[in-house]
Amino acid sequence: MNFQEYLDNFRSTLETVFSSSASLANIGVERGMPPLVMRDILECRPLSVFIPEEYNGRGGYVKECLSVLGTASYHSLPLSLMIGINGALFLQPLSVYGQESTKQRVFERFVNQGSMGGLMITEPSHGSDALKMQTYYEEHDGQYRIKGLKHWAGLTSWADFWMLTARRKDANGDLVRDIDFFIHDSSNNGIEVLEMYKNLGLYMLPYGKNKINVTVDSDCRLEPRTTGVTMMLDILHRSRLQFPGMGMGHLKRIMDEAIEHCKNRFVGGTSLFSYDQVKSRLSKIQSSFTVCSAMCAYTTENAPIEADLSRSDLSANAIKTVITDYMQEAGQSLLQLVGAMGYRMDHYAGQAIVDSRPFQIFEGSNDILYQQISESVLKSMRKLKENNLYNFLRGNSLTEQASGYLKNSMNFEVDVKMAQRKLVELGKVLGRAVSLNMVIQLGEKGYRSDLIQAAIENLCAEIDSLLSAYKYEAQPAIVDGYEEDSDWTRFV
Ligand SMILES: Cc1cc2nc3c(=O)[nH]c(=O)nc-3n(C[C@H](O)[C@H](O)[C@H](O)COP(=O)(O)OP(=O)(O)OC[C@H]3O[C@@H](n4cnc5c(N)ncnc54)[C@H](O)[C@@H]3O)c2cc1C
Repeated sequence: MNFQEYLDNFRSTLETVFSSSASLANIGVERGMPPLVMRDILECRPLSVFIPEEYNGRGGYVKECLSVLGTASYHSLPLSLMIGINGALFLQPLSVYGQESTKQRVFERFVNQGSMGGLMITEPSHGSDALKMQTYYEEHDGQYRIKGLKHWAGLTSWADFWMLTARRKDANGDLVRDIDFFIHDSSNNGIEVLEMYKNLGLYMLPYGKNKINVTVDSDCRLEPRTTGVTMMLDILHRSRLQFPGMGMGHLKRIMDEAIEHCKNRFVGGTSLFSYDQVKSRLSKIQSSFTVCSAMCAYTTENAPIEADLSRSDLSANAIKTVITDYMQEAGQSLLQLVGAMGYRMDHYAGQAIVDSRPFQIFEGSNDILYQQISESVLKSMRKLKENNLYNFLRGNSLTEQASGYLKNSMNFEVDVKMAQRKLVELGKVLGRAVSLNMVIQLGEKGYRSDLIQAAIENLCAEIDSLLSAYKYEAQPAIVDGYEEDSDWTRFV
């Protein structure tokens, strides 16, 4: 089947399952996924795009992967995340770093039996500081025994396979600094679900806390090219670069819902669509769609499965933070436009807000990634002995085309000793500068010029407003022990 036929079949299946019977309207309101719906979706083999051709997959072409993610997220963001977890956090790492015998065994199960896989990194005591994880492994008789506690892994209790991360315990009983990845077959037991979490959104997906006590064969260990940490960066950057795949359908759906609603809702005798403030909101949502399209094009051309992305921190972190902020903002804006009816659990607007919110937290909290974007740029500037931000942006391939729009606003010297909050604010600016560059590049390829123009204008306005926050010098303090003299009733 050629790709277009395959995608059309997937799309029409989703249209059917997400619109047909009354019970299916509850997807998103009730937890889990009705087995028959799951069966219909898996029959379209959406995960095959992430599997190499030699193992009977569609070949792992990034354009196909992003198209499948976008098609899914138009109907259901949780479904798209489910496909994304399997693809970016399990199948792609296995393709790149798996040993041959394991690849044959595991891919066969995905292709012929509809198996699923997830990734466990996070621990209750180590989330953002994942490198300090306490899950450890020891080698005995050619096998690895892995023990620890993991939580919040997508597909908890569902996945047929797990990618487990752990640190080696050395002869002194200390954990080494590096991280290793192992494939575990759930049918071999050893993962005990201690608790299922009541996640706020993403009802389709199960999350919880797992006690790990498993033994895997030596061929289940992923083989890093250099260190395990470098392998982890490659895996996480590849995944972050593919977030726009999940963002694409989500933003298109919000745009379609918002335009449809505003054209048909009459307030004060005229359709919402004619109010200027409404147009401003719609234009921002539409620009998010355009930026997301530009990011998909960038990822397709720059992140093929063969590429080592361990050093692509700037592009990966810029894409992940900006698109997840846009996904959340678009949901908030849709709910504002829809008004009270949007504030129902079974309305798309409310669901879009709770479902997209954790994207700003997982795979690197946006607060931390924005800081890292600034640190990465400041490090490069130091190396080049360049203090002027505009000069740097003009010379960097990720921002050179955008720099023409930023000459007035970014032509200043950067103070390298910045407070963390300033690093975060500057990171937001830089993330949008990188996004602007991608939009300009998409425009040069012949994409609709009116959409490109509006996205450029919205991005420039956003950059200006973020820059004024960055340049504002006061750093208000948090008052610890604030109770004394802070009860207003005593002052009237
Ligand atoms: C829906 C969902 C799905 C997930 N899926 C997976 C999965 O499939 N596999 C998996 O392994 N994990 C998964 N996670 C876990 C996720 O990756 C972690 O929640 C994330 O890494 C943050 O860790 P934490 O929750 O422990 O927060 P913490 O590390 O406690 O951080 C909380 C907040 O503190 C602030 N903060 C932390 N450190 C700093 C710092 N250095 N500077 C400034 N501020 C800081 C940030 O605002 C941050 O958001 C998922 C989480 C959610 C909510």
